[in-house]
Amino acid sequence: MAEVRGGLHYPRSIGEFQAWFRTDADCLDYLEWLRWPHGFECARCDGVGGWRTGDRRIMCAACGHRTSVTAGTIFDKTRTPLTVWFTACWSFATAKDGISALSLQRSLDIGSYQTAWAMLARFRSVLAHPGRKRLSGVVEVDETYIGGEEPGLAGGRAQGKKVLTGITDAWMGYHGLAGLGYAHRRRSQRAARARGEDPAALLPAVHRVASLAKRWLLSTHQGAVEPAHLQSYLDEFVFRFNRRRSGSRGMVFYRVLELAAGHEPVRYRNITAGNKPRKTSPVPPAGRGHPPSLDRVTAGRPWRAAYLPYSG
Ligand SMILES: [Zn+2]
Repeated sequence: MAEVRGGLHYPRSIGEFQAWFRTDADCLDYLEWLRWPHGFECARCDGVGGWRTGDRRIMCAACGHRTSVTAGTIFDKTRTPLTVWFTACWSFATAKDGISALSLQRSLDIGSYQTAWAMLARFRSVLAHPGRKRLSGVVEVDETYIGGEEPGLAGGRAQGKKVLTGITDAWMGYHGLAGLGYAHRRRSQRAARARGEDPAALLPAVHRVASLAKRWLLSTHQGAVEPAHLQSYLDEFVFRFNRRRSGSRGMVFYRVLELAAGHEPVRYRNITAGNKPRKTSPVPPAGRGHPPSLDRVTAGRPWRAAYLPYSG
């Protein structure tokens, strides 16, 4: 695709988003277009072209393999309606700082916190690019501790919960940098402090990024990130940081869905990494099961039929 354009390839506003994706079928068609912009391609035989079957599946014209638009993507076997997925993705992509699982659960009437958390975790899992380019030019590298503060413990820090995080594209300690073609210029913050200088001024960019990342984890996610999940949150942070000047949030929505449609399925056990997501605050009693579709049908202006008591 030569150029991705707002209003044509992705919605530019919430109004356009709502007009485009009124039903689960609209969302499925958009995913199909993202996945196979030039028409169906069979993952089994590489053949092109297929037939639609009655059950919203596609049958390969060459080998007869039956598949669906969502099979083999992060939406594989999902029981959450696509209108809910799309609305979640719109919130995830267009809110500058993202969205917490708790807000998502509440705003979309999702039955369990874990379901909402797993949806966001699946979006997060597609944001890291294994093939990304190495950093070039002057690269500031530092390490910092993330987490460790427990709400409710006055000024206390729970032992063993802090995670040492290296801020560079290919963290491996400082040894081995030369072998990668980098010249290592060591800057001692301790020495700067001894000279009475601001140690943060030695590496201004990396300090800014580290404090932004920590602030983001504390604000959007209320600091409730398990060490086992930290890397995926940092992937999300990096994705947002690199797009912080993007004029079009709709473009970010497009990008996340495009990655999601091209990403292999992500199983719950893989995203939890043995650590069940924990709630950050009490959740109001909610219904069970999966959220209802957000298919929009005309509601018949219910407010016209409602009794509105006069006040005063
Ligand atoms: Zn085939």
